[in-house]
Amino acid sequence: MVARVSVMAARLSRTRWAIAFAATRRSPLISCRRCSGVSADTVYDVVVSGGGLVGAAMACALGHDIHFRDKKILLLEAGPKRVLEKLSETYSNRVSSISPGSATLLSSFGAWDHICNMRYRAFRRMQVWDACSEALIMFDKDNLDDMGYIVENDVIMHALTKQLEAVSDQVTVLYRSKAVGYTWPGPFSMADSSPWVHITLGDSSTLQTKLLIGADGYNSGVRQAAGIQNVSWNYDQSAVVATLHLSEATENNVAWQRFLPSGPIALLPLSDTLSSLVWSTSHDHAAELVSMDEEEFVDAINSAFWSDANHMDFIDSAGTMLQYVVTLLKPTKVSARQLPPSVAKVDAKSRVLFPLGLGHAAEYVRPRVALIGDAAHRVHPLAGQGVNMGFGDISSLVHHLSTAAFNGKDLGSMSHLAGYETDRQRHNTALLAATDLLKRLYSTRAAPLVLLRTWGLQSTNAMSPLKEQIMAFASK
Ligand SMILES: Cc1cc2nc3c(=O)[nH]c(=O)nc-3n(C[C@H](O)[C@H](O)[C@H](O)COP(=O)(O)OP(=O)(O)OC[C@H]3O[C@@H](n4cnc5c(N)ncnc54)[C@H](O)[C@@H]3O)c2cc1C
Repeated sequence: MVARVSVMAARLSRTRWAIAFAATRRSPLISCRRCSGVSADTVYDVVVSGGGLVGAAMACALGHDIHFRDKKILLLEAGPKRVLEKLSETYSNRVSSISPGSATLLSSFGAWDHICNMRYRAFRRMQVWDACSEALIMFDKDNLDDMGYIVENDVIMHALTKQLEAVSDQVTVLYRSKAVGYTWPGPFSMADSSPWVHITLGDSSTLQTKLLIGADGYNSGVRQAAGIQNVSWNYDQSAVVATLHLSEATENNVAWQRFLPSGPIALLPLSDTLSSLVWSTSHDHAAELVSMDEEEFVDAINSAFWSDANHMDFIDSAGTMLQYVVTLLKPTKVSARQLPPSVAKVDAKSRVLFPLGLGHAAEYVRPRVALIGDAAHRVHPLAGQGVNMGFGDISSLVHHLSTAAFNGKDLGSMSHLAGYETDRQRHNTALLAATDLLKRLYSTRAAPLVLLRTWGLQSTNAMSPLKEQIMAFASK
């Protein structure tokens, strides 16, 4: 039975590839150029298309892998090289919450040291609470280990660029080089045909690779050219980001997130006196927040964190009852609410908005192709997991490719790429589904749902083993 299933799966996969091959030939991203034998074009072992946070980290990880010592790797990035000549005193408004697992990956090839030498802020607690009731959940660790790190995206990019320079013998980086066409090898190799993926760049030059890794963001050209289906939708929300000055200096080691009916608002620590804002709200409200004067904007933030205008009396009573029962059953250690810091000022010109959406590729791999990062999955920022999921993809893919390289196997073969897909789809689909569910569950003021989530959140807060499991999952 198992054998029959695997034969069927193998047939299905071949058919899938043949259909995709036919589809890719119709795709506008495909160059007209036919594969016509190995030409003078350079053949790379791996080409990573897209040098954002995830693509650059992928190229770094491969460049530093011992089994890739004799391999040729190319990173293609449409934009310019991004290094920080000098760290500006003003913090960037684009920051990421980096999980301990992601920090471990960045450490494995030396990038975390650069980040530590520049700047980041560790946080040790996370308080998430509902604007429609008293319900809250507090994540913290008994031993006060770091739960995560808030790092400016520019600082991460700088660290990755430095570590790419350190392996410039193995990894070539082409900046301002956009891939405009991909041509796949045919399903049956002809004597005169090339077995590799051909890539055409914006300046019409071409190159070939045994494995193409698509790290080109949520509108991925690699994914489209490979004909991989993508489930996606736009949310009815945009995220407003900004750099905020707190009213007074604090320890500032807590990440705060409050679920308002219009969307979650989060305050992430940057320093004793500064925090970063990520406020997801309706498109119209986001546009209003970006254009209002600074004082009005600061008032709106403080009221979003402090106001009880959305509370309902009977939900508060029901919540208090459950809290009472929980205290009776579990007299010790149910985390109490802490008050978030108040905001005094916003950095001029730091307010920007980003439309939000969800996306998930039905397949992460095809023969000679793998997708990583936002090219494979796009997630609402409420869980602060987008780039962490991408870094998790890298750990898994590098593990499978390194084993293949060690065993002298073809890097583009499905035998190890499929292992990567299985590992990561399991993790990523669970996170995408949970994040989407949370977004929907908290977007309503309907009393039965508010009551359900109030009790759910209070119960989860009282169950330490469950909270520990959630923390362990999110810290990967
Ligand atoms: C408001 C907001 C807050 C967020 N906060 C967090 C957070 O706290 N924690 C977290 O983990 N995640 C967070 N995220 C998500 C995170 O920012 C993304 O998941 C991450 O940046 C995706 O990185 P990427 O490299 O996969 O894609 P991208 O950043 O989109 O990079 C793709 C790169 O590919 C290049 N490219 C595209 N096409 C081509 C081509 N044809 N040829 C060559 N190059 C090409 C582009 O120039 C770009 O540099 C947040 C997102 C938003 C919007």
